[in-house]
Amino acid sequence: MRITCVGGGPAGLYFAVLAKLADPGHEVTVLERNPRGTTYGWGVVFWDDLLDDLFAYDPVSAGQIWEAACQWDEYEVRATGKEVTHLAGYGFSLGRHKLLSLLESRALSLGVDVRWSASEADIPDSDLIVAADGAGSSLRALDASHFGTSVEMGGNKYIWLGTSHVFRTFTFGFERTPAGWIWFHAYPFDDTTSTFIVECTPTTWAALELDRLDAEAGCARLETIFAAHLDGQRLVDHRADSGGTGWMNFRRVTNQRWDNGNVVLMGDAAHTTHYAIGSGTKLALQDAMALADALSSGGPLAAALERYEHRRRAALAPLQRAALASSEWFERMPDYAGLPSIRFSYALSDRRGEYPLWRYLLHRATQQAVPRAMLRWALNARRWTRARRRPGAAPSAPSARAAPLPTGG
Ligand SMILES: Cc1cc2nc3c(=O)[nH]c(=O)nc-3n(C[C@H](O)[C@H](O)[C@H](O)COP(=O)(O)OP(=O)(O)OC[C@H]3O[C@@H](n4cnc5c(N)ncnc54)[C@H](O)[C@@H]3O)c2cc1C
Repeated sequence: MRITCVGGGPAGLYFAVLAKLADPGHEVTVLERNPRGTTYGWGVVFWDDLLDDLFAYDPVSAGQIWEAACQWDEYEVRATGKEVTHLAGYGFSLGRHKLLSLLESRALSLGVDVRWSASEADIPDSDLIVAADGAGSSLRALDASHFGTSVEMGGNKYIWLGTSHVFRTFTFGFERTPAGWIWFHAYPFDDTTSTFIVECTPTTWAALELDRLDAEAGCARLETIFAAHLDGQRLVDHRADSGGTGWMNFRRVTNQRWDNGNVVLMGDAAHTTHYAIGSGTKLALQDAMALADALSSGGPLAAALERYEHRRRAALAPLQRAALASSEWFERMPDYAGLPSIRFSYALSDRRGEYPLWRYLLHRATQQAVPRAMLRWALNARRWTRARRRPGAAPSAPSARAAPLPTGG
């Protein structure tokens, strides 16, 4: 089969890898519009469920991702005028740049023809064309009415920055300014860098003049606002030299149909999920797994594409609901600002409003050092046990890139 993936993001590259693993005779091409080594964004987070899947589908790339990832052991919540509180839960993070370079190397080693600085205009004769060209997919736009594409804009403004301050763990920080609340989602993803996503309402954004400042001046203003969290380190906009990353509104993309003849949508081109639940990359990779499975089961292409879409829509639905509830919580964030510290961080963690009472009681209890350490120990034991079950995986955790967790507080 001749397969072309338009877009060399996680979806396109990983599907290319799986297609080659399924049948080395497939001719697989990836067309990426950017030059090699160029991408947007900083680190992304993921959890055990993705690692389980990655090890099941390709232990080689999974092992490399596992080795390169950074682990964090809890969430810290800071807000002006409130005590620092903690939310239980661990996860992993990895630079998007590193993830793509690992997937590229794996694809090339399997004989995938990866072409950079190439786009949909360069598609060779193909039996299957995978539109993995992201939320703003050009390939999808060629036939937007067939796909039934809808794009809804989120209310808040955000910008995806990085910083050389290595946060100890996943941290939400909320600052009250005279113009209103502004906050960040930050986490370490290697020895030297953390992701730093800043968000606020459009009113606060305009009042802080973030709509008018260029990339450098905008970063400088944010460094001043968040000085208490950055330990003197800079915020970095890696597009500062070319006009800046720019403030965005999250685009919630949905499509009524995912295929059109031999063209099929995958990853963000098919659906986006708000960054507040950190799942878009996972969903893109799992789309690739589902399409690889659907094709491997044989039969006509149209039936395989239907199986793929059916399976993925069912899997996506709960996460999309969670993402929507999560983004709406952040749009209403100023309404929660008056809550006392522990209730505020609990409201943040229970953004869907579905937790039973015992979760609140546990949350209260684990603000104390000893119960918190015990819960962290139990979660780590569970993580270790789960890691041991993965085929070909070393049971040890990825190297702890972030500063070690304190024993008290
Ligand atoms: C602020 C922010 C934070 C996020 N954090 C997380 C997180 O922590 N965890 C997580 O799981 N997800 C996160 N995501 C979501 C994640 O980045 C996306 O869901 C994921 O990258 C989707 O993968 P993809 O391969 O479908 O698309 P993309 O990663 O967007 O890749 C598309 C590729 O196609 C290329 N391309 C575009 N047009 C063309 C064209 N015409 N021809 C050829 N190539 C083209 C692009 O250059 C790009 O390389 C975050 C997103 C945002 C905005």
